[in-house]
Amino acid sequence: MLRRLAEPVLHHRSPDFAEVFVLAQERLRRVFRTENEVLVFTSSGTGAFESAIVNLLSPGERVVAVSQGEFGERWQAMARAFACEVVPLAYPWGEAPRPQHLRDALAESGAQTAIVVHSETSTGVVCDLEPLLAVCREAGALSVVDAVSSLGAVPLETDVWGADVVVTGSQKALMTPPGLAFAAVSDHAWERSESATLPRFYFDWARHRRAQSKRSTPFTPPTSTVVALVEALGIVLEDGLEAAFARHRALGRACRAGIKAIGLELYSPDDDSAAVLTGALTPEGVDAIELRLALRDRHGITVAGGHGELVSRLFRIGHIGHVTIDDLAEALTAVEVELREAGAVVEVGHAVAAAFEAFGSVAPAG
Ligand SMILES: *Cc1c(COP(=O)(O)O)cnc(C)c1O
Repeated sequence: MLRRLAEPVLHHRSPDFAEVFVLAQERLRRVFRTENEVLVFTSSGTGAFESAIVNLLSPGERVVAVSQGEFGERWQAMARAFACEVVPLAYPWGEAPRPQHLRDALAESGAQTAIVVHSETSTGVVCDLEPLLAVCREAGALSVVDAVSSLGAVPLETDVWGADVVVTGSQKALMTPPGLAFAAVSDHAWERSESATLPRFYFDWARHRRAQSKRSTPFTPPTSTVVALVEALGIVLEDGLEAAFARHRALGRACRAGIKAIGLELYSPDDDSAAVLTGALTPEGVDAIELRLALRDRHGITVAGGHGELVSRLFRIGHIGHVTIDDLAEALTAVEVELREAGAVVEVGHAVAAAFEAFGSVAPAG
């Protein structure tokens, strides 16, 4: 799909691009599992999230913002930056939000909007989204879902579960270069956007909807990235979303098995919910920052780091999007090699065997 980026650049007002853009929207709706309009922004995921804040809220308005890690905290800070009154429902990093707490927070605050992170990438926790959305609907509150690292990797039924706004970016499970972000918007959210009074311009939903109804965008889009997106979504949809979910679950199982075979402690949950990434702690005395640098410089493997007091122990192996069991096996072996190099008592080869065993027979990515 990256080959498509080398093709001549389409002009964004050309009929050729209009065709590609319409196809992108169609495929996005299928991946979001929605009949709602999916708005397309030239930005990272954070930009699309900002679009939800400025189109749905008014200055001083209360919003319940659930946090269980870095991204939930980012949305709280963002809503505050736009002068909203944030009612934080904050969990320690690594926990999952609970419907009853959200019900209480909405009832006590009277807030009409709730922000939830589906897959908290900083911890590897994917929450049980459906009951949280049900609580929002019961309370008559709009739900805004950060699905940046979940959509396309784990099940998310926008319409069936009744999510009002679902936000994601091109660069995670959708296997496209960075630069595009999306928001699926329900009728209820469109209604709210008409009365909300926060200022908006670049991320104005109405402006995007008007342009999209004319098979276009209000501003210049990265046309080559849209071409790559259509290609990537085509691959995902051809194999089927269920196959993608199964592959992510299997990769999660394989990665956890590998980590445990090395003798490391898991940081992310030890169950199939942890299908996006696997967090692990280095053995006492081995610095996770050093480990990550060694993996990058000596093996060309990028793993993510930790935060706060876990910065010197936590590393996170992503297995989202275009990752194969072979990629994972290579990464796990490199971890073994570098841990041994750092003085830990580790045998090289155990992780790979355990990972392949746990992976079972799942069809590879297309
Ligand atoms: C990657 C990510 C984002 C968005 O990050 P951008 O850099 O703005 O694309 C938001 N939320 C989650 C959970 C993420 O993993």
